[in-house]
Amino acid sequence: MLSLEEILLDLEQKSKKSREELLAKIKKKQEELSGLVSSEGAAHLVARDLGVSIIRETKRELKLKDIKPDMKNIETKVRIIGITDTRKFKRKDGKEGRVASLIVTDGTTEARIPLWDKQIELIDEKTVEKNDIIEIKNAYAKENIFGGLELRLSKYSRIEKVEDDKSIPYRVIKPEFERKKLKDIREGSYEIRGNIVNIFNINPLFKTCPKCNSKLEKDNKGYKCSEHGYVEPVNNLIISTIIDDGTSTIRAVFFRDAAEKLSNINPNTLSNMTQEESIDLIRENILGKDVLLTGVVRKNKIFDSLEFIVRDVKEFDIEYESKTLIDEISSFR
Ligand SMILES: [Zn+2]
Repeated sequence: MLSLEEILLDLEQKSKKSREELLAKIKKKQEELSGLVSSEGAAHLVARDLGVSIIRETKRELKLKDIKPDMKNIETKVRIIGITDTRKFKRKDGKEGRVASLIVTDGTTEARIPLWDKQIELIDEKTVEKNDIIEIKNAYAKENIFGGLELRLSKYSRIEKVEDDKSIPYRVIKPEFERKKLKDIREGSYEIRGNIVNIFNINPLFKTCPKCNSKLEKDNKGYKCSEHGYVEPVNNLIISTIIDDGTSTIRAVFFRDAAEKLSNINPNTLSNMTQEESIDLIRENILGKDVLLTGVVRKNKIFDSLEFIVRDVKEFDIEYESKTLIDEISSFR
C-alpha cells in the first residue's frame, strides 16, 4: 500500500497540479464520501478522476521488450553484449566530459545504457565486462530518437554484476513478427504488407550528434548538441508515411537504414536540397510502392494514435505472398 506522501508525489508529477490543489481535492472527496475513505483511498479516487494511473511501476525482473518509455524504478537483469568506446567531449563549461554505452539484452530485445563521466569507472575498472550478467535497479527508460530503448541511470540507480546462471542469452532471440492486417493490430511487433499512399511533408533530413545520437539544434554558429556543444552533424534520413493495406491505414515511420533501404536515397545527397525538393524526390521513389515491413507498433502520445516504427523493409517471398492471397480469397467463399 502506498502512503499518502508517495501517492501525492506521483500525482503531482503526473497531473501537473499543485500539492495544495490535490490536497483540496482529496479533502473534498473524503467529505463527499462522508469520511468513509482514508486519505490514501481518497487520493486514489482523485487520481482516477484525473485520469492518472498511480500504480507503482516497479516490477521484478521486467523484460526489456515490456519496458515502455518513461517507466521509472525499473529493475531488470540483462547480459552485456557490447561496450562502446569511451568518447571525450567538451562540456558547455569547458570541462571535459566522457560518455560510453553498455549494449545489453535479455533475449527479448536490446537496450543501450549510457554511462557518463564517473559512471564509466564501472568499465575502466572492469567491475562489469562484456558477457557479464548484470542487475540494474532504479533505472528509468527513454526512447531514443530512433525508436530504440535506453535505460538511463540516476544517482539512485545501481548496476551490479551477478553470477552467470546461463539464464540470459548472448543475443536477441529474433522476435516473432506476426503477420497481421492493419485493422487487427495493437501495440506490439508485427509484419505488415501494404501500399504507401501518402508521405508526410516533414523534413526528411535529421541531424544528429556523432557522439550521442541526440538531435541537434541549429543556430548561426552551426549545429549544437545540448551535451557535446558544436559538432559535425551526422545526416540521417527519416520518412514518415501512411500505409494502407485495404483494411485500414497506419502512420509508418522509417528511420535511417530502413528509410535508405525503402527509398534508395543516401541522406547526404539531400544536404543541398530544400525540404520540398527532398520530399519530391522521396515521393517519386516510394509513393504507391507495395511494401513488406516488420516493426513495432507504438502509441503516439501526441496524436493519440497507433504508429508503426519500421525495423526492416523486407523482400517479398512471392510463393508465400501468393499462398496468403489464395487463403484470403478462399476465406471469402
Ligand atoms: Zn551529443
